[in-house]
Amino acid sequence: MQFSSALLEAAVNEFSRLPGIGKKTALRLVLHLLKQDESQATQFSETIARMRSEIRFCKRCFNVSDGDLCTICSNAYRQQHIICVVENIRDVIAIESTQQFNGTYHVLGGVISPLDGIGPDQLNIDALIERIEKENTEELVFALSPNIQGDTTIYYIQKKLNGRNINITTIARGIAFGGELEYADELTLGRSLQNRLPVEKYMNR
Ligand SMILES: [Zn+2]
Repeated sequence: MQFSSALLEAAVNEFSRLPGIGKKTALRLVLHLLKQDESQATQFSETIARMRSEIRFCKRCFNVSDGDLCTICSNAYRQQHIICVVENIRDVIAIESTQQFNGTYHVLGGVISPLDGIGPDQLNIDALIERIEKENTEELVFALSPNIQGDTTIYYIQKKLNGRNINITTIARGIAFGGELEYADELTLGRSLQNRLPVEKYMNR
């Protein structure tokens, strides 16, 4: 692609670094911004810069947050004694979209995967165990990907909680999920949240 402006080329290069955006799409987006009022383009760039520099992570559940606690953790109408354990923030967004879950979350930041060099210490697992002890959590709902890494993570956390009086469940995880939680459609995901299974039943299948 030939550019007559180094500034235009630089902007196209930045956009094309985003996932799923090729050079052609990047050019289309940049030209669109160029057509807009200068104030709109400035607002666009300022929003991104602010999001990146000011966003924080909830001290309790590690979800994205504007303050110390996220809006879910600080919502008195949510069942604070139920924790849904997820891999990442996209999973929180997917489950929230179903409107079928009224508890809280705990974002692990991934799953145990020795082949990728990810052990329990790299994840927010200790914080989860501490939180459960401190808050007298009544139910832990695992919503992890249905694969070996997800199962290993459930097994590890379950072992750590051995002897605790806590209900441990997992959302029904079947082929309908198409692999990753975030790709499940809202209806399927919502239903599997309602029909969660005791984790022993799932693990011994
Ligand atoms: Zn939170």
